[in-house]
Amino acid sequence: MYLHGTSRINEAGRLEIGGCDTVELANRFGTPLYIMDEALIRQKSREYIEAFRKTGMRFQVAYASKAFCVMAMCRLAAEEGLSLDVVSDGELLTAMRAGFPPERIHFHGNNKSPDEIAMGIDAGIGCFVADNFVELEMLDAIAAEKGAVVKVLLRITPGIEVHTHEFITTGQEDSKFGFDLGSGAAMKAVEIAAGKANLELLGVHSHIGSQIFEMEGFRAAAEKVAKFASEARDKLNVVFPVINMGGGFGIRYVEGDTPLQVEEYVRVLTDAIKNEFASAQYPMPEVWIEPGRSLVGDAGWTLYTIGTQKEIPGVNKYVAVDGGMSDNIRPALYGAQHEAMLANRANDLPEEKVTIAGKACESGDKLIFDLMLPKAQPGDILAVSCTGAYSFAMSSNYNRIRRPAVVFVADGQADLVVKRESHDHMLANDVLPERFQVKGSQEGAAIR
Ligand SMILES: *Cc1c(COP(=O)(O)O)cnc(C)c1O
Repeated sequence: MYLHGTSRINEAGRLEIGGCDTVELANRFGTPLYIMDEALIRQKSREYIEAFRKTGMRFQVAYASKAFCVMAMCRLAAEEGLSLDVVSDGELLTAMRAGFPPERIHFHGNNKSPDEIAMGIDAGIGCFVADNFVELEMLDAIAAEKGAVVKVLLRITPGIEVHTHEFITTGQEDSKFGFDLGSGAAMKAVEIAAGKANLELLGVHSHIGSQIFEMEGFRAAAEKVAKFASEARDKLNVVFPVINMGGGFGIRYVEGDTPLQVEEYVRVLTDAIKNEFASAQYPMPEVWIEPGRSLVGDAGWTLYTIGTQKEIPGVNKYVAVDGGMSDNIRPALYGAQHEAMLANRANDLPEEKVTIAGKACESGDKLIFDLMLPKAQPGDILAVSCTGAYSFAMSSNYNRIRRPAVVFVADGQADLVVKRESHDHMLANDVLPERFQVKGSQEGAAIR
């Protein structure tokens, strides 16, 4: 088990995070429970910003909020001087309610609705990352109606394949995102955007995928972006003051994962950009990046209570927890891997190999395969590490399982940032039409 951030085994032989005993957290807040190591998120944020400061370039580090979007996290990002990416009215609203400075918000997405565009303009956000021709027309028209000039980046797909899961690559030519370079769509988009009275073209955006360990893809993307920028300058006389190189920086989930240090990611990327733009004799643009997973992923833990077990002799042993794919769909969705330990018996030696199963009615609802654990008992607390990104964010009410609470821990203090869903909350939007109502009962509710 890889103990990182503020996690450690305390004198009681239990897992501690942010100075808080996780068994006490489980008792106080219930399970499943998401725990975020606040100090680690702040440390990562500072590493990104420090690394950029060292380069002497103008920059923005935008937290891709889709990884974990709750008000407390938006607030933390604001405090740390990060910018923020949103991809929907819901994420934008979360950021606004948290008091995030609108001028540092960037609106992404391949199918923004007119209402979402209007909401972004009204909020005074920093820029839209335009994804396609339909959106460009819509942005210009809505901005014109409002008498506004809207800053835009154009998302381009550079035609780069990176080594990661197929579902999380986005830079390849056959992508639902962005204007592709190969067909000339990207150049056409520059021409159109530059000619629109209500758009101010800032530059281009490229995001090649997620959980990337190798710099080769980023280097290749920097090269393509610089080449494209100088072509646009030569052909259309347009100069980009900003380039956005996206996110996708990997983290260590399990042994064998070998991400670079934050500083290394930034240094190699900015070196590539400096080289490419210098050799094109292009004025050095401001560089934006958009880490999501790498800011919050390894800061997150999920606590579960172990319940039933099933052994198939010589085949497998299942240990079931009180959550699963409803709070972490990543293993089922794209074979994501995690490590885990018994939080209440953190010093006990591993004795047997088990599969951690969730409680949802899907055979695929398995969180971890081949996990070495001490002999688990019902009531033991299982702590799964590195669940901070895309777990709560992708959680669902499948099987009408209620979403867990989220707690921030730091310096021995634990604060609830998302309440556990109540039964009433889960049922709040259900409507029983009159003809379905149970005769003679009030409000149509047979049982409360
Ligand atoms: C998802 C996404 C990110 C963040 O990706 P991570 O792998 O979480 O760093 C950044 N930019 C865009 C456009 C994205 O879609």
